[in-house]
Amino acid sequence: MTMELHNGQYCIQEIPITDLSEKYGLPLYVYDTAIIKRQYNRLVNAFDVKRLVINYACKALTNISILRFIRSLGAHADTVSLGEIQLCLRAGFLPEEIVFTPSAVSIEEYKKAMELGVRINIDNLETLAYFADHKITYPVCVRINPHIMAGGNKKISTGHIDSKFGISIHQLDSILNYVENSHLNIEGIHMHTGSDILDVEVFLQATDILFKAAGHFSDLNYVDFGSGFKVKYKPEDIETDIDLFGREMSRKFNRFCEERNKDITLMFEPGKFIVSESGIFLARTNIIKHSPSNLFAGLDTGFNHLIRPMFYDSYHEIINASNPHGDKKYYSVVGYICETDNFAWNRPIPEISAGDILAFKNAGAYCFQMASNYNSRIRPAEVLIHEGKDYLIREREELEDLFRHQTDQIRF
Ligand SMILES: *Cc1c(COP(=O)(O)O)cnc(C)c1O
Repeated sequence: MTMELHNGQYCIQEIPITDLSEKYGLPLYVYDTAIIKRQYNRLVNAFDVKRLVINYACKALTNISILRFIRSLGAHADTVSLGEIQLCLRAGFLPEEIVFTPSAVSIEEYKKAMELGVRINIDNLETLAYFADHKITYPVCVRINPHIMAGGNKKISTGHIDSKFGISIHQLDSILNYVENSHLNIEGIHMHTGSDILDVEVFLQATDILFKAAGHFSDLNYVDFGSGFKVKYKPEDIETDIDLFGREMSRKFNRFCEERNKDITLMFEPGKFIVSESGIFLARTNIIKHSPSNLFAGLDTGFNHLIRPMFYDSYHEIINASNPHGDKKYYSVVGYICETDNFAWNRPIPEISAGDILAFKNAGAYCFQMASNYNSRIRPAEVLIHEGKDYLIREREELEDLFRHQTDQIRF
């Protein structure tokens, strides 16, 4: 658990979150290194293979201090843009510890990534053809789409037949054709079916397809099975059975290595699983508003700071840190953005008064990272709790930041 009740106060590593809000102001993102470490270790311990590498999918949360901590655990990094590559280099990752897994980027962007020396992952036949035609021998990984749906949500699943991601498994012959007739150097095979592995069996079916495809490549150094490890957002949610998955996957992978008589590396690239539960988002209640049909708690934040509930219909547990034991009432928790921005509809929460601090759980992944300046509001600060101490790892923006990069030269 990120937050625990100590003497009636919600705490992270024994620091009351009300103290954090006083010290740093609100709204505020807070992360707990102990949870990140626990999740990383859970994943690593689930597998029994000779060579395992966890590439943290840093798009979930790219604060440099977080990246540095995750690297200290032994992880490598998965990136989707030159910006993320630069952040990872800044955090101390070596180029060979970084995989660049973009979608629909230009050849120019691939070239820049190669100049930086990172591993690259190609997700379309056209780019592969370019590499073949230009006799580029830089080692590459190929992203295959096995077309297995992991989870039912088309918005976050990337494995379905209409998905833009990866090279369709139905085009495997074309890939092999390029490989045979060029100097392409394929060092890895990759898939990432989406962010929602509910059913380990379904995921394992997809891995069978990838293993079969991998069998056609003779110089592989790694096989990367992407992510999709699901964590609980509500108590009744199903979490990926990581130990069951690890056992089954290790068995398949070890057999694959034995058949080839070569120990290659097994890779995964989780984002959410590593950081989601480590984060909470704190915001103050501005107003309690009664309407004929609803009781609203209006917060001093909105989808400019936390968009997942509106963007993905995702559920984030909300705690009233100022009144943990109050009688529950049903609230629609809303933001201050001039659009419908409900964080929750009719949710039972201990009685909320204006001024109360609410805490959103599971706010580590895709939360701060998706924040914007919409409605010309500034982005919040980020704090990291490590070994019982709190550290400011990103300052709150200032109003001045809204003007930055505007040239303001033209007068009428
Ligand atoms: C986003 C992404 C991930 C991480 O997904 P999570 O659901 O956060 O674990 C992994 N691999 C690729 C290629 C991604 O785009």
